[in-house]
Parts: sequence; structure tokens; C-alpha cells
Amino acid sequence: MSAELDLALERRLGKRSAAVIEKHLGITTVEGLLNYYPRRYMSRGELSPISDIPRDEEVTLIARVLSSSTRRMQARRGTITDVVVSDDDGRQGLRLVGGTEYHGKAPGTLKISFFNGYKAQAELLQGRRALFSGKVTSFKGALGLTNPDYQLLDDDPFSDGGRDPEKMAAMPIPIYPATGKLPSWKIQKAVSTLLETADLDSLPDPVPADIAAREKFLSIAQAYRLIHEPESVADWQQARRRFRYQEALVLQSALARRRAQLAAEEATARRPVAEGLLARFDAALPFTLTAGQAAVGQTLADELARDVPMNRLLQGEVGSGKTVVALRAMLQVVDAGGQAALLAPTEVLAAQHFESIRRTLGPLSGDGLLGGLDGASVQVSLLTGSMPTAARRQALLDAASGTAGIVIGTHALLSDNVSFYDLGLIVVDEQHRFGVEQRDALRAKARKPPHLLVMTATPIPRTVAMTVFGDLETSVLDELPAGRAPIATHLVGLAENPAWAGRIWARAREEVDAGHQVYVVCPRIGTDDDGDFSPGEAAPPGDGDSDGGRELASVTGVVEHLAEEPALSGVPLAALHGRQEPDLKFGVMEDFAANRIKLLVSTTVIEVGVDVHNATLMVILDADRFGISQLHQLRGRVGRGGLPGTCLLVTSLEAGHPSRRRLEAVAATTDGFALSEEDLKLRREGDILGASQSGGRSTLKLLRVLEHGDVIARAREDAQQIVGGDPDLSARPELAGAIEKYLNPEKEAFLERG
Ligand code: ADP
Ligand code: MG
Repeated sequence: MSAELDLALERRLGKRSAAVIEKHLGITTVEGLLNYYPRRYMSRGELSPISDIPRDEEVTLIARVLSSSTRRMQARRGTITDVVVSDDDGRQGLRLVGGTEYHGKAPGTLKISFFNGYKAQAELLQGRRALFSGKVTSFKGALGLTNPDYQLLDDDPFSDGGRDPEKMAAMPIPIYPATGKLPSWKIQKAVSTLLETADLDSLPDPVPADIAAREKFLSIAQAYRLIHEPESVADWQQARRRFRYQEALVLQSALARRRAQLAAEEATARRPVAEGLLARFDAALPFTLTAGQAAVGQTLADELARDVPMNRLLQGEVGSGKTVVALRAMLQVVDAGGQAALLAPTEVLAAQHFESIRRTLGPLSGDGLLGGLDGASVQVSLLTGSMPTAARRQALLDAASGTAGIVIGTHALLSDNVSFYDLGLIVVDEQHRFGVEQRDALRAKARKPPHLLVMTATPIPRTVAMTVFGDLETSVLDELPAGRAPIATHLVGLAENPAWAGRIWARAREEVDAGHQVYVVCPRIGTDDDGDFSPGEAAPPGDGDSDGGRELASVTGVVEHLAEEPALSGVPLAALHGRQEPDLKFGVMEDFAANRIKLLVSTTVIEVGVDVHNATLMVILDADRFGISQLHQLRGRVGRGGLPGTCLLVTSLEAGHPSRRRLEAVAATTDGFALSEEDLKLRREGDILGASQSGGRSTLKLLRVLEHGDVIARAREDAQQIVGGDPDLSARPELAGAIEKYLNPEKEAFLERG
């Protein structure tokens, strides 16, 4: 730990400046302000393109004064100074004179008004360039900025002066994330003071010297200087490169340490038995495993047989057959006398797993009093929050006594009153928002550390897996079982072809007449609700609920409409959504699975896992309301039984609307890995990292999981090496300290205040 880093800011900045920084940025320590990096850098010669400036948010821009005029106010005392600024650097005219065609935007202007702006009137003279900071508003197409803070550019923004003017001209201007009251250059001033007063040479460096030498990194002191006060573009680039790697190393070392800790635990080995349930299950399997399923199956079998806990992530394309892989692992554990728990993200999915696993097991699934205790069969139990008390009590009892060999459930499995007789394997299905904490809560239910298999709902790019599930080993299932017909996805734009609305239902009728079934998915339940997203599910990207007055398709509305739809007359249809009573929900699902209901109108409750082979058409209404991965998951519900599947993405947005691009992406490919990368690009970094980040708050400043995959991979290797030779990091106190801060930012904040 470094005294300097944890030092209160006022010791280095003085009381007044420190108070201003704390008030506006919430930063109280030397480390906090040193790590408040510029968001970007501008060059002195550059003018900000005015047409690109975002409206109604705090911005910092450079512009040149075109004209200035001051007038008296009519109604009150005082004056208004209007300064018109432009992004025209004068070169556009030159280029035209030279006969070269000019491709850039036409110069933009912006009117800046100052009330009683005597200083502005005196300083902002024609031709001068300055930094301005404030919120740009647009009124009747004219852009305006009122009473902004500004900083003349020709002045030296640094306090020390005396720099050679040519060097000055080349110096990038750091632009800090500013607030309305604290413009970028005032932050810069405070940082500049800090760089002079802090004892930078005493700062601990979490990056080991040999790695720093290999990567030719700046020293940590020099890196702090250059990230805040670069003299050239190369300076800040070098500084960023170092801090970016440093973030990756700290993160990966934390994960490597957790991997090492998990691997040092002792689990019960669950060795396969010759004539057990698994052997009989395999013999009765109605299909052959894909090569991927067989290979992953072998890996799992080997790891379960060891007395070290397995900690594995199974990444799989939608429909690649993860369930059967997990079930085989569960049977191996049951054969060896242990229990397995399968955790599903929703009640619908838990119930479906319960039904389909019992069906798949056939005679191997034992009911009744003997349960799985006879060794010839296994009792499968269901445990969810909404079960009637009696059934719930029975399930709890069966789990605790060991009568239930396989327990399937929702988050309810995590609650305190759930216990197991001998929990050997935990399978977490279809969930990538399940954080380390929750995994640990389940692990705590076993006497000895259990084996763990996590399965993702959607394939995720390798570097994301390395970060979010960095404490797990990874297997991938990217091939679909043979004979799986491809899903054809079409974008149905009602804005350009309103007549297609009717054609959709005629198409649904064709499927039903051919003996098949249809899903219709809506973004909402009723006409005046907030949608129905599975727990933990982020609301779809979009523009909030005020959708320009557009009425979104709702389950109840569509059911009413379809009951009157001539094309569908006589077709049995039903609604399914999260607000129904569990009994009704399961009844509807059962009727659909049994082909008694032909057309199911639902919310995204059917998003993951639902497996009805006879369904061939999926109609997603207002598809623009869903995210890319969600759409990919949803359409994975059709085309499962060898019958070709079709997915219609229906939207009433006009062609060219940015949200339609997501739909085009989904229609263009069925490669889940490519789509999830596309999807993640649209999310904020914090959302990508989700619950795996302590406190849900991302402390990554420069590292972008998607962009900097190479850095992450290198840091992972380094971390593995460092932690492998020194699991407690006793020889690397600087790195250990940085990990501590990374894992417990709240604790740090608490210590700072105390
Ligand atoms: P996901 O990986 O999306 O969870 P599932 O496990 O639900 O996929 O499997 C999708 C369907 O494919 C299931 O009906 C399952 O029985 C079937 N299936 C799994 N493996 C095979 C295989 N090797 N050959 C044929 N069908 C398979
Ligand atoms: Mg599944």
C-alpha cells in the first residue's frame, strides 16, 4: 500500500481546491485524481466540427471567433454580448481557390451569449481561438450556448509558462470529463498542481519490472505525467498503453488468483461406473452426439473424476445441445452417489427442464418412495419460488435427505433453507448474468467444494469470456446437431409495406395447416405496462418508453386482434407471460408442447431454452424493441426438429432508422458469436462486465473488453505465470495491493473517509 496514493487530496492541493474537486467530481484522494484521466486530447490547430457537437450535454469545444457584438437589454439593466464562433479554419476557402474539390462539411457557426459579459467582450475578439465548455442547445435550427466557461487558447493553459512557443503549438490539450460547474481546464489545473506536489516517485508499480522492460513501458511516475500533460500525441498514447495493460494485469491476476484458490480446494471425485445410469442413458439415446458434445463430454467426465473441483464454462451456440451434455455429467455424479443441481434463470425454463429431463430419462427417472435410492433410477425434483407449500416442502426434504438425485430450480435454490445431502455438481444453465457471488452462494451448500458447470445463454466473444468468466476454464460447442434445418430470418418493414401485416397471419395459417406451430412474440404484456423482461434482463436498447406515441404490440392486444383475424379463424391460440399464475403458465406451456395450442402469443418468457420441435415459425412484433442477442435466442426456438424454421422480424420503423440496423444484422447471419460481438459493441462496458465486477461498478478506465483483446490475452498469460509461481503474491505486494483495491473499491472508499 502506498501512503501517497491514499493521501487526502487537500494535503497536496490545499483545502480550497480539494473541496472543489470533491464537490464536483467526488474525488478525495491523490490516487483518485491521478486516475481521473483525460477523456480525449485535442490538438491546438484543431477546431471542433460544430455540426457534430452533441446537444444538451456538457461538451468542451475549440472554436474561432467570427464576430462579436454587445447590446443593451430592453427589459432589464445590463448587456448581452453575442459572440459568433465558427469551425472554419480558413483552409476551406484556400482549397477551393486551389481548384481541389472540397469534401468536408460546410463550416458551422454557433452563437454564444454572455449576460454582462464584459470580460468576454474584451477578450473574445475576432480571429481568436478558445476552448468553450457548456451545453449546446438548438433553437429553430440555430445552435446556441449561454454563459459558457471559456479559456483563450493563445494563452498558456499551464501554470509554469516559459515553454518554447513551437513546442506549445504541438502540445495536445487534454479534455477531462467535465461537469457544468467545473470545466475541463480547471480540472487540468488541479491535476497540474498535483503532479508538481505529489511524490510520484514513491508510487508503487503493480507491473513487475521484467514485464515493464519487455513492453518498454514508461515508469509509473512518467506515465502519470504524460497522460495528464503530454507534449505530443505519442506521449499520451504511450502513457495510455501502459495504464491499459496495467488494468488488464490487475484484473487477470485477480482472476488467476481465484482460479488458483479454486484449484487448491479438494472435491469429491465422482468416477464413472460401468453399468450405471449414464451407461444405460447413452445406450438408449435416440441420436448420436455431435463430435463437440462427445469431446466436451469426455472433458467433463475426466474432470468430475478428479478430486479437484471442476470449474468450467460451456459456451454454446443456440440449439447446440448443451442440456444433454449437462445431463450426462449429472448422471455420472449421481452414479457416484452424489447429487446434482440445475439452476435455470426462469420458472418456465426450470419447469420445462424438469419435464424434458424426466421425459428424456424415461424409465431411468424414478418416482415414488424409493426415489433414486435403488440405484436403478434417479429421482428428479423441481424447486421454484412459486410452488405450493406442500410440494415445496417435499422438494426441500428430498434434496436434504438425498432422495432427489437431480434437483432443478430457479434462484429459489440459492435461499438459505435449501440444503443437500451430498451436492456433487452444480449446473448453471443459460445465464451469463450470474455473478461470482451467486455461484459462491450455491457452492456453500455442498459439504466439500462441488464441481461447477456454467452454460451461457448466448455465445460470447473469447475476450469477454476471459474477463467475465475469467476464473473458469472454457469449452465451446459451436456446431449444431446434424439434420438441423437452417432458420431463415426476414425483416418485415411495415412502414414501407403496410399490406404485409395481413400477409404475416396468412403465413402463420399455412404453417398451422401443415401441422406446425407458431410463436408470436410481443414486447409488452398489456397496453399500459412496462414490458416483461426476465429478471436481470436489461431493458432492450431503445429510446425508453416514450416511443414517439407509437403503440407497441402487447400480448393481450394481439390475442384479441388475432381472435378476430379471418386468416386464423379456428386456430387454437393462447397467451403466455410472466404475470400469469404459475399453474396457468405451465398449463399453457404443456398444451403448446403437446400441440393442442397451435399459436402462442407471448413475451420474452420463451426467450431461452424453450424446446418445442414442432414449432416452425416465429413472428417477433416490434422487433426493434429487442436486443441482438435476445433476437438470436428467440429465433433459436424454431427449426429445432429438423423442420426448416422461419423468423419474421416485424418493425414499423422507417428504413434507415438506426434501430433497424440491429434487425438487419440478425437477419444477415445465424452466427451467434458474430452477433454477440455486434450486440456487445452497442452496450456500455459496465453492462458487459455486469455482476462480475465488484459492486457492479466497472473500475476499468482505459481497457475495453472488445477492443483490447490482445492486451487482455497477454495480461492473462502474464498473470497466470505470476500467480502460478506465487499464489499469494507475497513477492508482489504492489500487485496484491492493486488487486485488493480493484476487488473492494467500496472498502477503499470507506477507509479514505475514516
Ligand atoms: P441449447 O444448447 O440451446 O440449450 P438444447 O440442449 O435445448 O440446446 O438442445 C436443442 C435440441 O437438440 C433438443 O431438443 C435436444 O434434444 C436436441 N439435440 C441435442 N443433441 C442432439 C444431437 N446430437 N442430435 C440431435 N439432436 C440433438
Ligand atoms: Mg438450453
